[in-house]
Amino acid sequence: MLACRASGLRRAPSLRAPNRLKSTQPNIRSPFMDLATLAPGIQSRLTKLGIHRPFDLVLHLPLRYEDETHLLAIADAPVGCAVLVEGEVQTCETMFRPKKQLVARVADATGMLVVRLINFYPNQAQQLAVGKQVRLYGEIRRGFWGDEMVHPKIKSVGAHNQLSEALTPVYPTTAGLPQATLTKLIGRALRACPLSDTLPPVMLDAYGLPDFAGSVALLHAPTPDIPNVMLEHRTHPAWRRLKFDELLAQQLSLRMARAARREKNAPRIAPEGRVAARLVASLPFKLTQAQNRVLLDIARDLAQPHPMQRLLQGDVGSGKTIVAAIAACHAIECGYQVALLAPTEILAEQHFRKLSTWLAPLDIKVAWLAGSLKARQKRAALEDAALGTAPLVVGTHAIFQNQVEFKNLGLVIVDEQHRFGVAQRLALRAKGQSPHQLMMSATPIPRTLAMSFYADLDVSVIDELPPGRTPIVTKLISDARRDEVITRIAAKVAEGRQVYWVCPLIEESEALQLQTAVDTHAQLSEELEGIAVGLLHGKMKPDDKAAVMAEFIANRIQVLVATTVIEVGVDVPNASLMVIEHAERMGLAQLHQLRGRVGRGAHASLCVLLYTGPLGDTAKERLRVIYENTDGFVIAQEDLRIRGPGELAGVRQSGVPMLRFADLEADADLVEAAREAAEALLADNRPAAIAHLDRWLPGREALLRV
Ligand code: ADP
Ligand code: MG
Repeated sequence: MLACRASGLRRAPSLRAPNRLKSTQPNIRSPFMDLATLAPGIQSRLTKLGIHRPFDLVLHLPLRYEDETHLLAIADAPVGCAVLVEGEVQTCETMFRPKKQLVARVADATGMLVVRLINFYPNQAQQLAVGKQVRLYGEIRRGFWGDEMVHPKIKSVGAHNQLSEALTPVYPTTAGLPQATLTKLIGRALRACPLSDTLPPVMLDAYGLPDFAGSVALLHAPTPDIPNVMLEHRTHPAWRRLKFDELLAQQLSLRMARAARREKNAPRIAPEGRVAARLVASLPFKLTQAQNRVLLDIARDLAQPHPMQRLLQGDVGSGKTIVAAIAACHAIECGYQVALLAPTEILAEQHFRKLSTWLAPLDIKVAWLAGSLKARQKRAALEDAALGTAPLVVGTHAIFQNQVEFKNLGLVIVDEQHRFGVAQRLALRAKGQSPHQLMMSATPIPRTLAMSFYADLDVSVIDELPPGRTPIVTKLISDARRDEVITRIAAKVAEGRQVYWVCPLIEESEALQLQTAVDTHAQLSEELEGIAVGLLHGKMKPDDKAAVMAEFIANRIQVLVATTVIEVGVDVPNASLMVIEHAERMGLAQLHQLRGRVGRGAHASLCVLLYTGPLGDTAKERLRVIYENTDGFVIAQEDLRIRGPGELAGVRQSGVPMLRFADLEADADLVEAAREAAEALLADNRPAAIAHLDRWLPGREALLRV
């Protein structure tokens, strides 16, 4: 599967004209390429770069180029820009002051240049031996010893060395994989992989796009006459062709996934809405317009005879849980069971409690499945699921993976969907029938991006918070003023409020992270006399976690010291102060999620971000964004700007291929074109559509079939 087939697409000779093919087809086989035959060290580094098959090498495009196509005379070479010069080594010595370095003088007929290497290998010293002819590529600086190049690219030259005709590509790479190796591999892949066009010429004409083979060839080795800005800004037609292809693949997969879903059967759930109406009537609040709108989307999906796959996005605190409960009521009214999954046991238990309070008065039994249950309780819950005595079963994903059988599962709801990988999502879908699925996520991905990351999902957004919330005030406070913060905690507790204290994230060492939490707990317990301080961390047994959480919910614990385990979904409206230690170490999405744990009640809430200076630029920028913004979508946009889409939280682990070349905003015209083209291809040229998908999203097919 990893190998590219030879490009000379040799058709089986037809019986009627046995000799024709032989005579017209030159007998040149393109070299066969198989990444599995490379050294394991190289393979693993390629994997790191996302290169799994030879064709990925073809699509591994340069970051920038170096112009080694013409030589300058040393006297003419301008200071401050990269140039190529050639000359003979006049002197070469190792100096030891200020530190060990190699200093050589290279001269041509017009002038002299110093070459300085601060770290060097013996073979570099040999290249610079007196009398050798060398070509140097680098930036000239005014140095201590006159005009100099520090660490230029050095090439020994003989009489017949020609200048390259194309710009030299510089590829994104990773430690241990030198440019030269990567360049060689890419060259091989370009010769071995079939680069024939997947798209019909009329389509290319219609959108004014060049052919594929020519485009990749150009981008890997452009000639120096091509304006550099077109390459740099990726506006050259060759770049546009690649972006178009990528967007087209995405549009195709999106359309095919939906079409595949249409072919599957799911129960038609079209209730009168009696059960849901009773639930809504019992609530102490009115649903927001946004909640009502997404409920309409969901009801419409459920009434279809094919499985719903809807992603419900809503910022933290936007009220997704009640939407899930109402959707569950629809299924239950029609006699189907509902499963609700949460990524952590804390969150699952909280859902269990909340849904039980809402649904028990309607005589709906809610079963609770947790890893920490005693065997007997677990058996009872499993039985409730299997016999259908519990119309709603709540639990963590781990439990659902293999054990649970349902009598009549009609709807699966997955909370904090971004926590689950695509693989898990698919495993669930593969389980038995194809129930309707509602996925919920508070990771606010801008809508256009969501459409591409979750290409197989429909998306609904709750874009409005319930009324009556007092906005959270965020303060940035230096760690030096920790004492003041502790005084403030005491004051809040005296007012009857509760407090979260989030311990720093220490990625390097889990043990250290745990120790910090334990120490902080001890310290706060001592300093906050007469106040119950609890501790919650990831290493605790689920039982113990649940017990601490229950105490906090009941306000028997006033201050909860926690590691980032509380990041997800915890809802304690009376908690109105959150202190986040070493906030500068956390990512934006995480800070936003954490902060969303307060501001859930009517009390004015405060989030204190404790930081320890000096702050780096990115940390400063992140803290500024979180300080200035409360809207999760705006924060996500900023996150995207600071880090680039590849790093967007929750997206990376979703495993869905990202857009590498196109930018949904900057290339909006191409998005539109790709959308049109996808429709046209699927209607009248399916083989081309399949070939295109195979090229761009291999393995995506498997994903579509689930
Ligand atoms: P999230 O979207 O983060 O999961 P939750 O579902 O936990 O948010 O809701 C946050 C809080 O807001 C809960 O206490 C919930 O009961 C409450 N809530 C939900 N909808 C409304 C509403 N329309 N009006 C007032 N409060 C609401
Ligand atoms: Mg939630």
